[in-house]
Amino acid sequence: MPRTKVMAANWKMYKTPDQTSEFFRNFLPLVSGHSRDEIVVCPPFLDLPAALEASKESKIAIGAQNVHWKEEGAFTGETSAGQLLALGVSHVIVGHSERRQYFCETDDTVNLRLKAALEAGLIPICCVGEVLEEREAGLTDDVLRRQCVRAFHAISAKKAAKLIVAYEPVWAIGTGKTATPELAAEAHAVIRSEATEIFGEEFAGDLRILYGGSVKPENSKALMSQEEIDGALVGGASLDPKSFAAIVKY
Ligand code: PEP
Repeated sequence: MPRTKVMAANWKMYKTPDQTSEFFRNFLPLVSGHSRDEIVVCPPFLDLPAALEASKESKIAIGAQNVHWKEEGAFTGETSAGQLLALGVSHVIVGHSERRQYFCETDDTVNLRLKAALEAGLIPICCVGEVLEEREAGLTDDVLRRQCVRAFHAISAKKAAKLIVAYEPVWAIGTGKTATPELAAEAHAVIRSEATEIFGEEFAGDLRILYGGSVKPENSKALMSQEEIDGALVGGASLDPKSFAAIVKY
């Protein structure tokens, strides 16, 4: 069975609630007849209610950009899986490279967040990817395997059933540099092979691995034509409804 692609938007720290409603007013008509792929939009926490309200008559799923691993407690600035689910959020990005780079996210905290998300019933989009120095030193495969081993530590295949992985080479995020479709597909194959080791062949065969890193309307088709690429995680180009719709509909 071919894997259904997931076309996900990561809005990072952009847009207000009003701008979120406006995005959906313009985006929904552009994708109303589009049933081939799953569409997920991940706005900032503040915009989640507006996104949920605006998308409620559509099939578009709404995701958060992070989740804490505790159910509740004295963790100023954090948000739990239970709180996200209570709003109606279904997906969550975990381990984005900007969290790793600027907010002390480690492979271990990624593992804690993943476990909490899966345990609660959220669908995590777990990001992995190498930095430029690692690619240039020939370490990409090792880095991807290490990130997967640590992120998926002590998670059973049964628990991980809804997991989605995003391969996001850090040198391609927000830089305008895109991995070639072939290079992305090679990295996806490494991740799938590690998922096979950890979770087994059947699980890995069904696992959706998205590509992220300067995906645009102009390169979406070539990337999505690769059998190994099961969708996209789109940052900058997802902020504009026309551009994200063109990427989704490639
Ligand atoms: C991202 O934020 O996950 C991302 C891939 O960003 P961009 O598309 O802007 O490179």
